[in-house]
Amino acid sequence: MNNAEIIVKGQKYCLNVFNRLPIAMVRGEGSYVFDADGNKYLDFVGGIAVNALGHAHPAVAKALAEQAARLIHASNLYWLEPQVQLAEVLAENSAFDKVFFGNSGAEANEGALKLARKYAIYRGHAECQQVITMQSSFHGRTLATLTATGQDKMHHGFEPLAPGFTYVPFNDWPALQAAVNEQTCAIMLEPVQGEGGVFPAEPEFLRQLRQLCDERDIVLIFDEVQTGLGRTGKLFAYQHSGVVPDIMTLAKALGGGAPIGAFLSTDKVAAAFQPGDHGSTFGGNPLVCAAGLAVMQVMLEQDLPGQAAAMGDYLKSRLAELQAKYSCITEIRGQGLLLGVQLDRPGAPVVQACLKRGVLLNCTAGSVLRLIPPLNISRAEADEFISVLDSALQEVLQ
Ligand SMILES: *Cc1c(COP(=O)(O)O)cnc(C)c1O
Repeated sequence: MNNAEIIVKGQKYCLNVFNRLPIAMVRGEGSYVFDADGNKYLDFVGGIAVNALGHAHPAVAKALAEQAARLIHASNLYWLEPQVQLAEVLAENSAFDKVFFGNSGAEANEGALKLARKYAIYRGHAECQQVITMQSSFHGRTLATLTATGQDKMHHGFEPLAPGFTYVPFNDWPALQAAVNEQTCAIMLEPVQGEGGVFPAEPEFLRQLRQLCDERDIVLIFDEVQTGLGRTGKLFAYQHSGVVPDIMTLAKALGGGAPIGAFLSTDKVAAAFQPGDHGSTFGGNPLVCAAGLAVMQVMLEQDLPGQAAAMGDYLKSRLAELQAKYSCITEIRGQGLLLGVQLDRPGAPVVQACLKRGVLLNCTAGSVLRLIPPLNISRAEADEFISVLDSALQEVLQ
């Protein structure tokens, strides 16, 4: 099928919930993807921070093929070698002790929220059920994570929402202090708000949160679904501030495209869960965990976090050149290869102009161009992106 044929069929049979661009992707290689008409695109969306190793990475493809031929699934009624190995790699390379695997970011956050509530009961405070999250956050699309998401527009039409959530402005310490009370069991936030427009948390705010949570035995949860696994220039974004949460959630890049999510917890908090408290049929199955292991091996061996930090600095300097040229760019934000270019106008026309020139770019929060390419993009690919963005901005401003 070509693009047009796939789209016609898709409009007939697929639930109409995505704002899709009118192309169908059929193949990927490194930092490039190809549509059904054979057009080639430089991918600065990277499956929304999923394709950290680029497309069709041989190590991931090999791990998936070999594991598929050996054992795809057997159930968590039994121990599974790839799951145990991936849990070990994650725990040994982070500040956490125990890992639970699910199938998505939303599920990872859902599990983290359940554990936080259970922990309050475990320490003898059943009355603590309230969770504080941030305005403009994004935590997923299930009912609880949708409720945790601090954006009214996503809540609309899905009431009644899950009870027990309060929102405060991001990085607003006085507002947070005012919101905490005897019922608070958890505070959840993204170290860099991704969907909300690429807004990093202030290190001082994170330190204040950590101290408050320590004083009151509140569970601090970092949603690193987008920021985790090298994206911000460190393996995990919490390593920038040194503020270690009690629970960290992961997903997007973890499986290199295979659907996997995880939450990691310290032993102290993890002790609140007993057999039967949580579970998942597919969670941690051998196939996706083999992919995750391959991703982690490449990530650590090739220092992809370091590569992301260096390339992020380079892109920031090149974006600053564009900012000097185009006054519609009002700010450049972000860390590593999670970069936001704030425009003074809607970003959708720029996305279109880039697409026409063979570059995939994402716009979030209406007016923020979000750069989330593979972590191993080359200098030449970064330069190609900048020159296309330059010409796209020129067209849009005419
Ligand atoms: C993408 C994302 C999620 C949701 O992940 P899904 O896999 O789509 O459920 C949650 N939190 C953050 C920060 C995200 O970026």
